[in-house]
Amino acid sequence: METEVCIIGAGPAGLMAAIFAAEAGARTTVVEANSSPGRKLLLTGAGRCNLTHEAAPQELVRAFGAKGRFLSYSLYQFSPQAVQDFFARLGLGMKLEKDGCVFSAAGRASDVRDALVDRARSLGVTLLYGRRVGVVAREAGSFVVGAGQGQIRADKLIVATGGLSWPQTGCTGDGYRFARQFGHTIVETKASLVPVVTREDWPGQLAGTAVQEAKISTHINNRKLTTAGAIIFTDDGIGGPAVLDMSWYLTDHLPAAQTPIGLTLDLAPYIEQVQLEAQMTERMAGNAKKKMRNVLAEFVPKRLSVLLCGQASCDDALPAGQIKKDARKRLIRLIKALPLSIVRTRPISEATVTRGGVSVSEIEPKTMESKICPGLFFAGEVLDIDGPCGGYNLQACWSTAALAGSPGAQDPHTV
Ligand SMILES: Cc1cc2nc3c(=O)[nH]c(=O)nc-3n(C[C@H](O)[C@H](O)[C@H](O)COP(=O)(O)OP(=O)(O)OC[C@H]3O[C@@H](n4cnc5c(N)ncnc54)[C@H](O)[C@@H]3O)c2cc1C
Repeated sequence: METEVCIIGAGPAGLMAAIFAAEAGARTTVVEANSSPGRKLLLTGAGRCNLTHEAAPQELVRAFGAKGRFLSYSLYQFSPQAVQDFFARLGLGMKLEKDGCVFSAAGRASDVRDALVDRARSLGVTLLYGRRVGVVAREAGSFVVGAGQGQIRADKLIVATGGLSWPQTGCTGDGYRFARQFGHTIVETKASLVPVVTREDWPGQLAGTAVQEAKISTHINNRKLTTAGAIIFTDDGIGGPAVLDMSWYLTDHLPAAQTPIGLTLDLAPYIEQVQLEAQMTERMAGNAKKKMRNVLAEFVPKRLSVLLCGQASCDDALPAGQIKKDARKRLIRLIKALPLSIVRTRPISEATVTRGGVSVSEIEPKTMESKICPGLFFAGEVLDIDGPCGGYNLQACWSTAALAGSPGAQDPHTV
């Protein structure tokens, strides 16, 4: 079959690129390996889809760190506000939360996916499911895309195949293979926004225990880094939103088996150490006959209180009134700065996003077109871009896809 624009991958980037291409009048075909579109999109935001982050483009540029410069044009062109306007026009209700995260109002990622698919269909986009693209070639100025039995000939090819995380959603790294074939460099892929593994094995004893409000601190290259939010102890380390955010900074420095990265957990960030000490002293005096672990459990989860007592060389079964001052001080210090050493991340298959991918130095930031192969474009996570938690990664998908789908170097338009 023949088409003007062929897009590989019906994830958020592929669907958005298709809409922009079809809006501009191009005959557009999307080829998807799975039997249905947006399988990973359905998992986002724990099924609620955190589709963007309410912030000015310059804040997003900053949030993407070194890659912000590459993304800058796209984030200004199709900003978080423009994305919300776009989805509002498609009839999607959205809910802005206090931290700036924007979710589907009904708390259903499927609403976001369906809005995109309905729009693409109404524009006449051909959506081919259950067709994994195996080969891509350039012949006489056209791209020839081999998917299943048939071949698709296209003037323009957009690769929107995602990264390597959660391969069960269809992301197998095929896009990197296609990119390499056309001469592109693939920056080493790593897990980002992922739980981390500790050298200590005590977190395993607490597996499943969560601390809702924690602060994580570390130093990398003399720069102090902190993240905040919930953490959860896992079989071999720690996970949870604050850890995923921290992993974004750590992943380039891992694995580090010989010299693990030291970090500290503040298990009561909402209270200063002196106040905590005053409160603890008061509770211990008022509950002098209560076991120390039970007094401590007013400040941290019970399983953690036993562990902290052990680390502070303090008998958790002793009545609080018998705990010596120096043991109390050791406990307070541990609550405010519990040390852990990070040796590696969990595998990329468990990561929220992939760090690395198609090198952005070979991509034109105003169009997402390859600087090596005219007519070849990339959008979404297949590119070497990854942001922190909070809707940044989907925003990058929408922004890069809007440019990739738009004809030539024109500015993307909204529906
Ligand atoms: C559990 C989880 C929760 C997340 N939550 C959020 C969130 O709330 N907010 C946020 O901003 N980000 C979130 N993310 C990240 C976000 O989902 C990704 O950044 C985003 O899905 C990437 O979109 P994409 O279109 O580039 O790739 P994908 O969504 O991975 O889509 C790529 C598509 O290409 C298809 N494909 C691949 N190879 C081929 C081939 N050879 N032929 C045909 N089709 C192919 C795949 O089957 C897939 O459907 C989350 C990720 C995970 C894993």
